[in-house]
Parts: sequence; C-alpha cells; structure tokens
Amino acid sequence: MNTLPLSEINKLKQALENADSIVITGHQNPDADCIGSNLGLYHFLIQSKKNVKVIVPNRFPENLKWMRGASEILVFEKDTEYCKQVIENADLLLSLDYNDLNRVGKMQESLEKATCTKVIIDHHPQPGNQFDIYFSDTSVSSASELVFAVMMELSENKSINNDSAECILAGIIADTGCFAYNSSTPETYLAVANLLEQQVDKDYIKSKLFDNYSINRTRLMGYLLSEKMVVLPEFRTAYIILTNEEKDKFGYKIGDSEGFVNLPHSIENIIFSVFIMEHEGMVKMSLRSKGSFDVNLLSRKYFNGGGHRNAAGGKEFDLSVEETAQKLMQLLPIYKEELLAS
Ligand code: 5GP
Ligand code: MN
Repeated sequence: MNTLPLSEINKLKQALENADSIVITGHQNPDADCIGSNLGLYHFLIQSKKNVKVIVPNRFPENLKWMRGASEILVFEKDTEYCKQVIENADLLLSLDYNDLNRVGKMQESLEKATCTKVIIDHHPQPGNQFDIYFSDTSVSSASELVFAVMMELSENKSINNDSAECILAGIIADTGCFAYNSSTPETYLAVANLLEQQVDKDYIKSKLFDNYSINRTRLMGYLLSEKMVVLPEFRTAYIILTNEEKDKFGYKIGDSEGFVNLPHSIENIIFSVFIMEHEGMVKMSLRSKGSFDVNLLSRKYFNGGGHRNAAGGKEFDLSVEETAQKLMQLLPIYKEELLAS
C-alpha cells in the first residue's frame, strides 16, 4: 500500500473532525479518474453524517453516469449560483485529480476566494501552492489509487464500503487503460486486490467504461484511423485531426473521443501521438508519449497545457486545427533527438 506522510494524515483527520460542510471538486472536462476519485471519497465521507457535496466545473461524459452517486454531482457551469454558495459555505475543500486551481475553468475564482482549509489529493507533477494539506504523488496510477490510500488511513477498520470501492476501481482501471500504463508498481495491484476483496465486480466496471459506446463513436474511430491519421515515422510521431463538421457527421457526444489519442501507439515505433480537435470555439489537444519524451513539458511550453510526462492536454485559442498541426510539425525537428532516444 502507498505510504502517506503522517503529518498530512494527522492534519486531514483534524480538519475533517472540525468540518461540517465538505466540498469535493474535480477538474475541467472530468474523466473517469476524476469522477471515480470524487465519488469514491464522497461515499466514504457521507458515512460520517457530514454535509458532503461533489462539484465539477463542467459536464461529464454519459458513459460515466452509471457510477453510483453520479446523479448527486453538481455541475458548476449549470448551477453556478448554487455551487458558488456551497463553496463559500464550505469548511473544507478537497481538490482531487488536479494539481492547480487553474485547472477548474470557471470555478477557479470561487475556489480561490474560499478561505477554508484546502486539501489536494492528486498525481500530477508540479502541484500549485494554494493548498494547506498535500497528498501529491506522481508515482501512483491515478488520483483514485491515492484517494483509496488516504481513506484506508482514515478508516478505523481499514475498509471502505462497496459503493466507494466500485468508483475507486473504475478510476484506476480508466487511468491505467485497463492496466496498460501507469501501472507497473506493486502498490497499484495491492490496492486492486484490496478492492476486489470488497466484492467489487471488475468485469462490470470494465464493460460500463469501455463497452458502452454508440455505433457512431466506433464508426468515427474507424474513419479517423483510416482517413485522418497522419504518421511521421522519421519522428516516431502520429497525429489525428477532428473537425466540427466531422463531429456533426458522426453525432459526436462529449467523451466520444476518449482514448482515440492512444490508438497510434499500437503502431510499431510510434512513441508520440497527438489528437487535435475543434472544441467549443477553441482547439483541444491530447498528447501521449512512451518512455522519456515529456509531453507535459512540451504542452506547458507550447500548447497552454500540461499533465503528466506521458499524458498531457493542451489548447489553442487563436489557431485552427490545421494551424495547430502545422505548429506541431514545426516543433518535431527541434525534438527529433529526444523522440529518437525515447
Ligand atoms: P486528456 O488528454 O485526457 O484531456 O488529458 C491528459 C492529462 O493531461 C490528464 O491528466 C489531464 O488532467 C491533463 N490535462 C489535460 N488538459 C490539461 C491542461 O490544459 N492543463 C494541464 N495542466 N493539464 C491538462
Ligand atoms: Mn487522473
């Protein structure tokens, strides 16, 4: 099991004891690890009869709504005034699966204004300095795994309930791509073994997460691979562009492009892939790498984003998708050595 700093555990225990209203928050464009870690902690904390709320900045994909408690989640962009009030009245704020208050879109100002104790439980590098209690560890598979470790420390009988365990396992399975990456340490499997002991149905979770898409989404994936994927073997790179017109044609729904960025990685010798999509008046990028090539640094430097070494996101506000691809292509020769060495 992951070892956590005792000083932070003690501070968190104290803060929880003193708090009546607790708010758990996730990042902009919530994914399965975000929702899984938020709800995993929610099901744990509501047992203590406190007033616990989960707030995420914007809508989350349909294929995550099966998670127990998902209907209780407040969406800041939808219920802005109510969410602002809840945050203002909170005694304790927990930030899960994001490393900085600039990762929560329009919710940023409310969180920054809040004067209560702030806790971070996260696995991204370079955590911000806005928090009072830190559980920040890049070596864990997912925020869900880290939240699980924290709950085990807090739990008197070293166990969590089934609702919580199911959400946590969903987060771990999703952030590791079914244990394909970020999952090479024994701690992850010790956590999973522990969760399975709580009678969680792994196959059910896998099918809810990955075997639950629309026909349109599968056809879109085929189209992108066949017609849109650009492969640049000399740079060990591939990229895919998705336009608004194509999204309309395939009845695109939020979450449909989840995982597409990983597809080129099954090609021999490709270690860097980028998915570039038109999204709500800007360009949204997903970057993935294998080995030492650091897409977090690349995205921070050039694409207004960040993330992990091997998985990052980015955005462009003033470029089209094609111009974004051009910008990427111009960077490749600069990084050729690193790409070849990765
Ligand atoms: P995705 O490509 O799945 O959207 O994001 C991959 C990883 O990068 C996730 O861990 C996500 O939290 C992070 N990420 C995505 N977009 C951004 C961004 O704009 N800024 C930062 N700092 N991280 C991001
Ligand atoms: Mn995560």
